[in-house]
Amino acid sequence: MPDRYAVIGNPVSHSKSPAIHAAFALATGQDLTYEAILAPLDGFRAKVDSFRAAGGKGANVTLPFKLEAFDLAAASTERARAAHAVNTLSFDADAVRGDNTDGIGLIRDIETNLGVEIAGKRVLVMGAGGAARGVLGPLLERRPASLALANRTPDKAIELAARFATQGHVIGSGYGALSGSRFDIVINATSASLAGDLPPLAASVFVAGALAYDMMYGSGPTLFLRWASEQGVTHLADGLGMLVEQAAESFFVWRAVRPDTAPVIAMLRAH
Ligand code: NDP
Repeated sequence: MPDRYAVIGNPVSHSKSPAIHAAFALATGQDLTYEAILAPLDGFRAKVDSFRAAGGKGANVTLPFKLEAFDLAAASTERARAAHAVNTLSFDADAVRGDNTDGIGLIRDIETNLGVEIAGKRVLVMGAGGAARGVLGPLLERRPASLALANRTPDKAIELAARFATQGHVIGSGYGALSGSRFDIVINATSASLAGDLPPLAASVFVAGALAYDMMYGSGPTLFLRWASEQGVTHLADGLGMLVEQAAESFFVWRAVRPDTAPVIAMLRAH
């Protein structure tokens, strides 16, 4: 019997993770299956328990359950504890272990796939939800010149920045406080595009040659990337590469085999 893995979320039917992990398994010769499991909003733990009882070996966790997954895991890696969020669960005979691969996924996409070094750069992250939590620690590890965190609800950004104060210099604020600041890398970690909205950002935040990065992805350029392009930004990237990179890190956590990501990113782009 192949080992069973899954992604658990709500909604989850749109998830590309089953296709990504199937491609990884085929390329690396790993004997596994990977399915999408919809959990009711009040039934995440029950879904994890039943999947584990049915022989599941591990699961990715997506919206809106990453904080619940952190609480559920008996032990978590340091990067998951720093984020206080889990996107990768591994099921041992006697315990559930939690990890967070979102941050390393973003770093690998920016540095390896896009060829942009983070060290010495002025970085802005917009949003203070689950996605932002997962990436702040790994971004700080890359030693940016500065890291700003802006959020619609300023208190959430201030609070989140304070949690990472021991790891580096990160300042949380609302968007108004960014007035006059300029950045080399601007990362949209909000879900504003889902509502057809843009974070209230001044066009002047981009320096010449800046990278505009949207963690969202879709069949065409996202709203934020279209807007950045209209402001003259030419280096634009959506979150598809991050998605594949975080999946590759989860695959490595489970199987101790590192799949090649470039062909899988190319396959998804071709679709
Ligand atoms: P959350 O729901 O946890 O957080 C949403 C964030 O967006 C909050 O900070 C919220 O601000 C902000 N926001 C929502 N609407 C608006 C708006 N209209 N204007 C300004 N800010 C707004 O979501 P996640 O952090 O989990 O996910 C964020 C995005 O990142 C999603 O689009 C998700 O798909 C993507 N993502 C991509 C990944 C990838 O691998 N590519 C991995 C993980 C996430 P407030 O606090 O004020 O409500």
